[in-house]
Amino acid sequence: MLDKLNFYIDGKWVAPAAPKTLDVINPANEEAYARISLGSKADVDKAVAAARKAFETYSRTTREERLALLQKIVEVYQKHYAEMVETISREMGAPLGLSKAAQAASGLGHIAEAIRILRDFQFERVQGSTAIVYEAAGVCGLITPWNWPVNQIACKVAPALAAGCTMVLKPSEIAPMSALLFAEILDEAGVPPGVFNLVNGDGPTVGEAMSAHPGIDMMSFTGSTRAGIAVAKAAADTVKRVTQELGGKSANIILDDADLKKAVVQGVQNCFSNSGQSCNAPTRMFVPAAKQNDAMQFAKGAAESAKVGDPFADGTTMGPVVSEVQFDKIQKLIQKGIEEGATLVTGGLGRPEGVNRGYYVRPTVFANVRNDMTIAREEIFGPVLATLSFRDLDEALRIANDVSYGLAAAIWTRDLNSAHRAARALRAGVVYVNCYDADDITVPFGGYKQSGFGRDKSLHAFDKYTELKTTWIDLS
Ligand code: NAD
Repeated sequence: MLDKLNFYIDGKWVAPAAPKTLDVINPANEEAYARISLGSKADVDKAVAAARKAFETYSRTTREERLALLQKIVEVYQKHYAEMVETISREMGAPLGLSKAAQAASGLGHIAEAIRILRDFQFERVQGSTAIVYEAAGVCGLITPWNWPVNQIACKVAPALAAGCTMVLKPSEIAPMSALLFAEILDEAGVPPGVFNLVNGDGPTVGEAMSAHPGIDMMSFTGSTRAGIAVAKAAADTVKRVTQELGGKSANIILDDADLKKAVVQGVQNCFSNSGQSCNAPTRMFVPAAKQNDAMQFAKGAAESAKVGDPFADGTTMGPVVSEVQFDKIQKLIQKGIEEGATLVTGGLGRPEGVNRGYYVRPTVFANVRNDMTIAREEIFGPVLATLSFRDLDEALRIANDVSYGLAAAIWTRDLNSAHRAARALRAGVVYVNCYDADDITVPFGGYKQSGFGRDKSLHAFDKYTELKTTWIDLS
């Protein structure tokens, strides 16, 4: 058992104010392999005090000093890259190939991207005799989920560091090991004491204490819509800025003139990638009514070709889902889909054949889903695809927009007019045309409606971590 019981506060690894531990479970075998501490308000107070003190000096560092620091973080991250890949796969079950090519890579990519933006970021913009100054926002509270753990951490920490902010991070208690390694990397890279602090804990205790804390200036949250609302409510009394990257139920519309096989197969693969645990996964596939049969054959083939198994084994394309809670939630929703009358094309309840251990879910495709069914409306966050049919583009767009979420959407067509029309009409923060790629970290990412507020990644991420000061100068 690996004990990682300390928090990273003021540049040191310190014991929690009161001992309380949580086992970290390997979802591939359901065994506890590490222990972390669950913190309390007292730990948050300590971390915030350290961040407030560090803000006085760190916010005044030069662009060059922060560039050098970020560059050093890149070097140290690269040194620990293989360890990061394995740590992510063990804590949340992504196959090693995915951890290497995407999970760990995106963490590194966000730091490199922050460096690229910081090089040219205009912290002062002069308009007549007025200076519009972008200043560091202050002490940032960062709360992250388990599904892309280091991606979410780095896409907050890197621009915050670049802007001159100090911060307290509460990573997911379900997948905290990569966050601890990330903190070790920052420590080794020489991030000054108090600039970055990490307190482990659960949402209702540590997350709530951070959200309500008067010493924290802004909250950057990624996770479920339920918890995002709780953060915003707790932050309201201290009038904090809150940015939210929340859930999704993204529509993938395949028009009559599209390459049906290509669109369906890619749609299934993107839906099932990371065991269906991506916020922007295309979980609602819209296929013309007349093409349902062909589409379901392609979907069945794509789903059944997924190699579900040990994340550390060669050839695995789909690992387990992250936890027992998540496994049970997915099972309930599959059951609900069957009960509400959707047609099960492949997959279904229980573990894949021959598997009796680990949180493995059968890659599942439903056809004949109506938009009022639970599986068309609720985020399942597992390898479960709901297929709906439509008669024309207007109907597809209307149903696609008829959900509370608005994170991503896609349209497949050879007709440019339809593509433009759909791209404008879809109420989503990201729209893909004839593709479903999510790996360009240089463009803004975030949602409409209950998928959130604010944007991660790109130049627009800097808006989160800066405050605007208008300085009028009377030259007369
Ligand atoms: P979750 O909301 O349960 O937990 C996310 C984080 O919030 C964790 O650190 C958790 O401890 C914390 N938390 C929980 N309750 C809280 C509270 N009351 N106050 C403060 N913090 C609280 O979500 P999860 O299960 O870890 O992640 C899955 C969810 O995250 C999905 O809904 C997914 O769509 C969403 N997500 C969104 C994006 C995006 O960019 N839009 C990216 C990844 C994941």
